[in-house]
Amino acid sequence: MKAKLQELRSRLVEIGDLNAAAALLYWDQSTYMPAGAAAARGRQQATLARLAHEKLIDPAIGKLLDALQPHEQSLPYDDDDASLIRVARRQYERATKVPAAFMSEFTEHNAASYEAWAKARPANDFKAVQPYLEKTLEMSRQLANYFPGYEHIADPLIDLADYGMKANTIRPLFAELRQRMVPIVQAITSQSPADDSCVHQRFPEGKQRAFGLDAAKRFGYDLNRGRLDKTPHPFTITFSITDVRITTRFKADDLTESLFSTLHEAGHAMYEQGVRLEYDGTPLGEGVSQGVHESQSRLWENIVGRSRGFWTYFYPRLQKTFPQQLGSVPLETFYRAINKVSPSLIRTDADEVTYNLHVMIRFDLELALLEGKLSVADLPDAWHARYQSDLGVRAPDDRDGVLQDVHWYGGTIGGSFQGYTLGNILGAQFFAAATQARPQIPAEIEAGQFGALHGWLAENIYQHGSKYTPNEIIERATGGPLRIEPYIQYLRAKYGELYRL
Ligand code: ZN
Repeated sequence: MKAKLQELRSRLVEIGDLNAAAALLYWDQSTYMPAGAAAARGRQQATLARLAHEKLIDPAIGKLLDALQPHEQSLPYDDDDASLIRVARRQYERATKVPAAFMSEFTEHNAASYEAWAKARPANDFKAVQPYLEKTLEMSRQLANYFPGYEHIADPLIDLADYGMKANTIRPLFAELRQRMVPIVQAITSQSPADDSCVHQRFPEGKQRAFGLDAAKRFGYDLNRGRLDKTPHPFTITFSITDVRITTRFKADDLTESLFSTLHEAGHAMYEQGVRLEYDGTPLGEGVSQGVHESQSRLWENIVGRSRGFWTYFYPRLQKTFPQQLGSVPLETFYRAINKVSPSLIRTDADEVTYNLHVMIRFDLELALLEGKLSVADLPDAWHARYQSDLGVRAPDDRDGVLQDVHWYGGTIGGSFQGYTLGNILGAQFFAAATQARPQIPAEIEAGQFGALHGWLAENIYQHGSKYTPNEIIERATGGPLRIEPYIQYLRAKYGELYRL
């Protein structure tokens, strides 16, 4: 058994190494690569992806998993070896259920579709991508059907991003959230919007970078095992538990852009850095799902980073960093500026309160498309109608409507968006559980200390990597299933005070 387990582990680590090499190529592509290298880089990434996939679907892995099943069953569920076998089996089954020919056709189609979208968006030409999107819908359905036995056709696609979550549990949760958020949004937007001119002055990039990175470091982001670089679309990427990098982008006339994206990515990165070192390179050695991952980034970005307590400590320092711009701006004005709420057209620019409405529109449209209740041809109008009813705004065109997000044009229809809102809900649920267990957390934050919060997250979430499923993590960390109540309470308390609701 020991030898078999050792062989399984070394095969899995080899796959992990290939994926890490591909990730490093991607990081370089998104930060420093000269533009002329694009074609060669694409080929190199495809080669590594193919090698990793071939190694994963190798029947030898299936045989090892079968042989190890009795061993797994003789061990407790949370034993590390049992967990490795269990999670490896899930990955193996996922990879082998989808025929290789379908996978390469889908990958090729996604590349073509992405290219069409990259031209169609600036040209505001939905018709140009419509045939691609129709094929994407058909192929997304086909992909789901390689995993028969689902309750809802979106479930296998949701599973790929948020394992164990189902359309029929997310839908009522989102419906309730939407129902309870719309009146909050209406009450806020009936008032005159906050004046955020103080964050729209000239802020030199070097000082922005230093301030954001200092905050990330104080949160607990370990720069001995990470670094910060510039990119057009910020992301976090892991090459190993000992090398987790973040990226950000700067706007000279918007202080919030790089600051909050740095804090957001630091939240993702601390999760990856906090996984137990023994899991490195194996399927256990990374964050468990999109939703749980996003809960970590949104928790640090919003619940901590946009809180009054955080700025009680950090605002005097920010004023010292930018004395000309902020020296005479009161904390209260700044706090209101960074928490300004106003319904907008673009998801990625949305504030904390309206953000979920953007996500839920996309989630509902994905389900309607998969169910055959909505055709791709009718998608742009359905999009506008939902923005009108949910946010009270209407994009002048499709560029800022249905063409704004890349997700459907480079991946599946289904499973692409729910993780963002699950992350917001979960971030609040985890934070509430953390402060209940460690009541000193709010006072620490006001003193610029984050050890108690970081420690609770490390102990209850980070260290486990992918050992437990998302639902198990939630249950273990908070003592109950996913619930929206802590999130609603958080928004009510914060924005009730800000807007005297
Ligand atoms: Zn994120």
